[in-house]
Amino acid sequence: MNREVVIVGGGPAGMLMGLLLAKEKIQVTVLEKNTTFNRDFRGETIAPGSVFLLKKLGVFKALEEHGFIKVQKIKMYDREEKLFSVNFDDFNHPQKFGIDIPQPVVLEALKQKASSYPNFEYIHGATCTDLIKDGEKVVGIRYSKEKEEHQIKCRLVIGAEGRFSRLRTLGHFAVEKKEFSRDLIWFKVPKPEGWEEGNLIKVYKHDHVIILPTYPNDLRVGTYIYLGGNRETKAKGIAAFIDKVCMIEPRLRKPMEKHIKSWDDTTLLKIFTAHVDQWAKDGLILIGDAAHTLSPILGQGVNIAMQDAFELLPYVNSGLKTYEGPLPAHHFDDYISKRKKQVSFVAGFQERQEQNLAASTPFQCMLRKVKMKLLDKAPFKIKVMKKLQYGVVANETTEGLT
Ligand SMILES: Cc1cc2nc3c(=O)[nH]c(=O)nc-3n(C[C@H](O)[C@H](O)[C@H](O)COP(=O)(O)OP(=O)(O)OC[C@H]3O[C@@H](n4cnc5c(N)ncnc54)[C@H](O)[C@@H]3O)c2cc1C
Repeated sequence: MNREVVIVGGGPAGMLMGLLLAKEKIQVTVLEKNTTFNRDFRGETIAPGSVFLLKKLGVFKALEEHGFIKVQKIKMYDREEKLFSVNFDDFNHPQKFGIDIPQPVVLEALKQKASSYPNFEYIHGATCTDLIKDGEKVVGIRYSKEKEEHQIKCRLVIGAEGRFSRLRTLGHFAVEKKEFSRDLIWFKVPKPEGWEEGNLIKVYKHDHVIILPTYPNDLRVGTYIYLGGNRETKAKGIAAFIDKVCMIEPRLRKPMEKHIKSWDDTTLLKIFTAHVDQWAKDGLILIGDAAHTLSPILGQGVNIAMQDAFELLPYVNSGLKTYEGPLPAHHFDDYISKRKKQVSFVAGFQERQEQNLAASTPFQCMLRKVKMKLLDKAPFKIKVMKKLQYGVVANETTEGLT
């Protein structure tokens, strides 16, 4: 079988890319190894910039029909003392909120929309196993489905298969991986009555919790433990863990005591970041988590992944018209340099916040308080947060979307 483009991975990056290319009448196939979108849990918060893209693409209606939680504020408190807040209403942009919605709903909506184009193909239960090469150039992929081997030849393979990308290895990309200095424990509890809107970060001395209202009526809570401290944390027992969290946010005690009965009600997340140096080889490009796995701070992974796809579209379009055969790596130089700037801006911001959150001595905690309060009052606060939350569509650049 021959296609113009094959996308490996049906996550936010791959499905959005598939829809964008389908709209351009490009023969595109998306391969997804799972048979449903109910795969491993991935983020549920979508930043306003990506919500704006989904609206422009006519996908948003399906999300409204399902229902979501509006996310309009981010707040940081040292226990009850406000350190920092941002309200998306203050942004000079028509999209005033992000959303929290199960990711499978978004992926299904993207697939439905893309399927309305006859040139779009989605193959699920299909695991990409290898690249097909002509010399050094990638000219297609091999995949297995129901124990049978298949292959597709194409002019561009887009690797969008997430943080454990196989194409990253098969394509011999140089990648820099960093393990975080701490592990994260997540859990979900029903939202207590009267809980306020917005994402909340609460710090207290050397500890903190991240609390995200989650569809339909829950809170997703994350708290750090030191790297490799899982066994020790567990040995102290679940009651001690509840105490640790409720010392910072006492309003969580009731729902935690009722719903967090054992460690099975929690999830340990090993945090690492990975950055690929050059995202493209002849006939192959990586996007989303495959090219850059970010930390979960401020939930930017989906946003960046979707914007990678959006910004790649004109390059694929022009490449298919300009060249014959596989698209050369150098065609994407400009794209990669633009995207890397945005990714390193986000990663830099996350790193500074991580350092703030990791404050451990009383002096560091005091410094954090001062820094966050200064940032809260800084004239550039809105500009920085807008760049983070809207990325490529900060200036409403929607050319090619309607
Ligand atoms: C626990 C957790 C919570 C998070 N919370 C948030 C959040 O709230 N907000 C946010 O913005 N980000 C969040 N993130 C990050 C976010 O989920 C990712 O950045 C985002 O999903 C990246 O999208 P992607 O399309 O690049 O990759 P993925 O979403 O990982 O999608 C990759 C897809 O490729 C498929 N695949 C993999 N290998 C193959 C193969 N060989 N063949 C075929 N298919 C394959 C996978 O099954 C998967 O469906 C979170 C991440 C984690 C782990």
